[in-house]
Order: sequence, then structure tokens, then C-alpha cells
Amino acid sequence: MDVHESLLELIGDTPLVRLRTPGDDHSARLYAKLEYLSVGGSVKDRIALRMIEDAERRGLLKPGGTVVEASSGNTGVGLALVAAAKGYRAVIVIPDKTSAEKAATLRALGAEVVVRPGMLPIDHPDQVVNTATRLAAEIPGGWMAAQYDNPANPEAHYATTGPEIWQQTEGRITHLVCCVGTGGTISGTGRYLKEVSGGGVRVIGADPDSSVYSGGDGRPYFVEAAGRWRHPETPEDCWPASFHQEVVDEILPVTDRESIMTIRRTARESGLLVGGSAGTALAAARRVAAGLGPDDLVVAVLPDSGKQYLSKYFDDGWLLRLGFLDGDPATVRVADALTDGERARPLPYLHRHRTVGEALAELRAREAAGAEPVLPAGPAPVGPSRRPTAPELVGAVRLVELDEAVAAGRVGPDQSLDEQLGAPLPQFGGGESAEQALATLRSAPDATAVVLHDGHAVGLVTEEQLRAALGRP
Ligand code: PMP
Repeated sequence: MDVHESLLELIGDTPLVRLRTPGDDHSARLYAKLEYLSVGGSVKDRIALRMIEDAERRGLLKPGGTVVEASSGNTGVGLALVAAAKGYRAVIVIPDKTSAEKAATLRALGAEVVVRPGMLPIDHPDQVVNTATRLAAEIPGGWMAAQYDNPANPEAHYATTGPEIWQQTEGRITHLVCCVGTGGTISGTGRYLKEVSGGGVRVIGADPDSSVYSGGDGRPYFVEAAGRWRHPETPEDCWPASFHQEVVDEILPVTDRESIMTIRRTARESGLLVGGSAGTALAAARRVAAGLGPDDLVVAVLPDSGKQYLSKYFDDGWLLRLGFLDGDPATVRVADALTDGERARPLPYLHRHRTVGEALAELRAREAAGAEPVLPAGPAPVGPSRRPTAPELVGAVRLVELDEAVAAGRVGPDQSLDEQLGAPLPQFGGGESAEQALATLRSAPDATAVVLHDGHAVGLVTEEQLRAALGRP
């Protein structure tokens, strides 16, 4: 019979499919490795199985034990699936930006899901990895998979993904392109392919453009599970032990917009529905292939399916709200309410650790200049012209409220602003209709909103500016 006795036999062994993009004029062959066809739906099934079986062998995970992990979703799903198949309990800690589909999948597989804010510095006790480490220590029989530092992560790819690609291409692969999250995929697959080819395979990382791996400043981005962002208040960043940098020849930065537009186009033009990080890998792979000839064969590893992101990258409303779509040019859009001068300057915002006195001075200067005396607040910027990413703006400061707090003696001018932050300002994508934005602002407690372009805050817009753009008195 052509049957499998265990679900675990259906992990990995994924196909390679040729990708031809209309308009591409290079002669190199580009193949995509479809990791979403693994039984749990992602590249992470491989490491889940390997890490659990390794822990069993070492006696770290025993019958009746609990698998604990911090995961943006896919590793959690892989672990939950293997844990269910083997009879373990699973507790998965996820950051709050994880897509709803991934969290629901974890719960459906019987895992207990713990959600923690994604925007915390690395040494904060509630940070996702710190939470998981604590839970693993507290739960009797708990074992933390620790994908970022577990050698079984890159080993899984050295043992399976690498050999599969080598056999499938009959040794003809010349370039490997992967995203780098924990680094497991690129390190294990890349190392195997380099060894077996005698150094003939070039290994290229594909990275969100602000990720620290490709030299970015570490500010957050919207492609999930790839790259490494760094909270500005993280004192010193330590790269995962699962990432073996010496295996990687080059890392190419790809913007959120390019990753997202790549998967939308790929879905429509070739029927391949893949996730955001697959878009990062595909965009980088196309760039690599563009400079190559007929003897070259590029393999891009596509980590998961687009079905997990239907409410994000494939949802026009989500994209419009974050400023990834430019909206209907026939209507007045929110961005039309910004002046050229405002567009050219970085968004004014208050760093949350400045003093109340400094904030008061800045807000009074705004008032004197005729601007709304309110500013969004966020972490200290890394560079002078840095525009904050939407989720970084965690609060707002209003002159009236701050004045009131000082007058009532609740806070002194030398104290930190941090405790005085009000709710964040409303945010609109630059492509959203100015008419609708105006209607929303009217019912909001404050008449100022943040304007977003490609997920970054680029300006502030008031009710008055929106009305002027619409030609209303
Ligand atoms: N993309 C997706 C969707 C993932 O789940 C992961 C794994 N976190 C990656 C990319 C990066 O893979 P790796 O951790 O092996 O570097």
C-alpha cells in the first residue's frame, strides 16, 4: 500500500517548481522550494520534529512533558503538531503582531497560546522569549525548544532541506536564496550545499531592509518571521546561535512594499499563493537571477503559504490603512492634505524618555506656530531623519493634559514623559480617502492624526488641513 503510518513522515520532502515571471529577461532558471506543502504548512515542521526528537534522546523531554516555545507562529504550529502526534502538551508564546490565522491554527492544534507585546526591549521580563523561558522553568516537565539557539534547528536543514535540493536539481544548483529569521534554514541548507558542491553554490540571504542582518537600523517592519529588528531600548543585540554567518556570501535588503507586491503579483500571475517572507526571498532571487546566464540555477526557499496572511498582505483595506496602497487618484486622499514641506521633513514626535519640561517647551512652540499642540510619542530614533514605523508610536502627549498634570502636582518638569503618555493618535494611510478620514477624526477625542506611507509615519494631519484639502470652509 502507498500509505504512511505517521503524520510525521509527511514533514519536508517538498517539491521544487520553476518560476517564470512575465517581463523577466534573464536566462537563468529560477526554482521555488514550496515549503508550505509540508504537512504543517511551513518550513518550520522540519526543525520542530528534529528539536523534539533531539530533546527526547537527551532525556530533556519525557512522556507527559510540555513543549514550550516563543514563536511568531510557524515554529509554534510545527511544535504543536509534533507534540499532538507524540502526546505532549504545548505552550506557545507569540508576539501580538502575529496574524490571527496563525494564532487560531495553534489553538486548533490544542496548544495553549500566550500573547505578549511584540514591541518590548530584549531585557524586558514580558518579552516573548523571556516569557517562554520563565514558563518552561515553572511548568513541571517543561522543555523550551529555543529555536534561536538550538543546534538541532540548522541541523534539521543540513540533514533534509540541503540534500533534497541537491538531489532534486541533480547537483545543478548554483545559487541558494533564503530569508534569515533564526538563521536555521540558510545556515543548515547553505552549509550542506557548499560542502557537497565543493564551494560551488553561492548562498544569499534575503532580508527586510531595516533588519540588522542586512545592515539596517533594526526598526520594525511588516514582513513576519524574517529578519531581525531591534528595539531602540535594547542595550546590546546578540545574534542567534542558529545563524552561522560564515555560510552566507551576501545579504540583500528588500523593502516591505517590494515583498508584499511580489507575492500579490505572483499569486495573480502564476497561481502561487505564498507568505510575505516568501516575497522577500522571491524579490531577492529575481535580483540575483537577473545577472546570471543559462548555466545558472537559482533556488529560492519559500517558507509558507499566503493563506496565513489573507487578512494582511492580500487585504486591500489593511494595505491602504498602512499606506502601502496609493488609493484612488480620482478622489482627495489623506496625503493630499500634507504640504510639500511637511512631506520633506521627518515626522515630529516626542521620545518617550525625554522630560516633561522639554515636552512642554516643544508643544508650546507648536502652539505659537499655529500647529495643534499635540505630538505622538515613541522610542528614541536611531538616526536623525528616521521616520518611525506605525507600531512604534505607542502614545501621544497633549499640551492641555500635560499642563494640567504639572499644575496638579502629579508630575514635575524634570520627570520622564513616559508615565504621562495618552492613547496613540489615530493613524491613516496616505492613500485613504480624505473624506472618510475627516468623518473618523470628527468622532475622535483629538483632531490630529498620523499619516502613514509604507507603514512609516510621515506626517501629522489635522481636521482643518483635511477640510482645506477637500475645499471645505
Ligand atoms: N519566513 C517564515 C514565514 C518563517 O516562519 C521563518 C521562520 N521563523 C522564516 C522565514 C525564517 O527562517 P529561519 O528561522 O530558518 O531563518
